[in-house]
Amino acid sequence: MYNNRKPGWINYLNLTTEFKEIVNKAWPEAACQWEEIENIAVYNQNKVLEAFKEEKVNEDDFRDSSGYGYFDTGREKLENVFSRVFQGNKALVRPHILSGTHALTVALFGLLRPGDKLLSLTGAPYDTLSNIIGADNNNHATSGKGTLTEWGIKYGELPVDNSGYPDPEKAAACFQEQVKVAFIQKSPGYSSHRCTLDIKQVKELIEVVRRCSPRTTVLVDNCYGEFVEKAEPAEAGADVVAGSLIKNPGGGLAPNGGYIVGESSCVDLIAARYSAPGLEESVGSMTDKRLYFMGLFQAPALVAAATKSAVWAASLFKEMGFRVDPDPRDKRGDLVQKIELDCPERVKYFIKEIQQNSPVDSFVVPEPSPMPGYRDPVIMGAGTFIQGASSELSCDAPVRPPYTAFLQGGLTLQHGLIAVTKAAEKLYFHTRGQQFPG
Ligand SMILES: *Cc1c(COP(=O)(O)O)cnc(C)c1O
Repeated sequence: MYNNRKPGWINYLNLTTEFKEIVNKAWPEAACQWEEIENIAVYNQNKVLEAFKEEKVNEDDFRDSSGYGYFDTGREKLENVFSRVFQGNKALVRPHILSGTHALTVALFGLLRPGDKLLSLTGAPYDTLSNIIGADNNNHATSGKGTLTEWGIKYGELPVDNSGYPDPEKAAACFQEQVKVAFIQKSPGYSSHRCTLDIKQVKELIEVVRRCSPRTTVLVDNCYGEFVEKAEPAEAGADVVAGSLIKNPGGGLAPNGGYIVGESSCVDLIAARYSAPGLEESVGSMTDKRLYFMGLFQAPALVAAATKSAVWAASLFKEMGFRVDPDPRDKRGDLVQKIELDCPERVKYFIKEIQQNSPVDSFVVPEPSPMPGYRDPVIMGAGTFIQGASSELSCDAPVRPPYTAFLQGGLTLQHGLIAVTKAAEKLYFHTRGQQFPG
């Protein structure tokens, strides 16, 4: 429906004539992907709406609780809604789960016991998870207190192939030794040599686990994956799925928190670790529940807007001659758009421009700095309402070759279009050593 037309909005952004040409050339390839993104959003919106209806969400559910938070029926309902949407039969959806990293930490420590083995089927996990494990991929202990290694938990990983994907055939060979938890990370994080798994690929891997080791628990890191496709990892057979509420499923409104959804036998173990054995999910007071409900309700639309922005960035940067992953025409499994900018200076420049086109802290110039849990210094452009929220438009990069910028999120499509296009124009002239004429 948008095919081949020129985008009318470019006239409102004060672009140079030279760059408008590039925008016009890049537009059709992006716009022809949008219809499918909208279809997926309708499917997911309907799924979320049905869950709200089935749980009979009402105004009382938004009331704050205090202290222990016993009998917080709104919190229970929020968790039931998540269970329905993500197709588990039990969920923890809590502000006390501090982040995606914490959600995965609680899940791993809840599921694993000394002597058990954890196996990553998607290569080295996200930077901050390496610290939880406390071992490198040769199973040599690394520094760090309170790690899984310190608790006597063994670790192994299946590296991804040259294609950037794990090979299901090779995965089968990893189950000679007993594996308690198989870990699958859908989105590649800051890895430049692995790709995003779509739900079909997640399913293929889980089928291998079921065939080779039926008693292994499958845990999926779903960060950035929620609502990008029609199905979620539990529908592909995952036992437990975890993620962050300041990414996709918080819909830009949840002020903090994480979620864990899955089989109740697994989530029970995790709930005992989340709070305390005997208390499990029954404690934990919660305020501002309206924001978590409303955020989840809006999440399919936010994810669609952010995905469209990501496709637009892919098209525009491709037109400018940069390598992008995914390609604008690729089917997507997460929100993240990788753009290879080839040098640290260009990464800093582009991220600064994204920051300057943000609603909050637009005057700030981001600099690379060491971040707790990350190997290399990270530069983050995130002029967000919620600190570090990457459901909001943000761009970040670890300062290491091949100097890839990771762009994601966006509260509105319109903001995504404006910020990406303006930042791209600045970079275009900067890269050619020209002063920006605007
Ligand atoms: C963001 C992310 C995490 C960690 O989430 P935080 O909330 O930043 O701790 C884990 N895995 C993946 C794939 C991610 O993108």
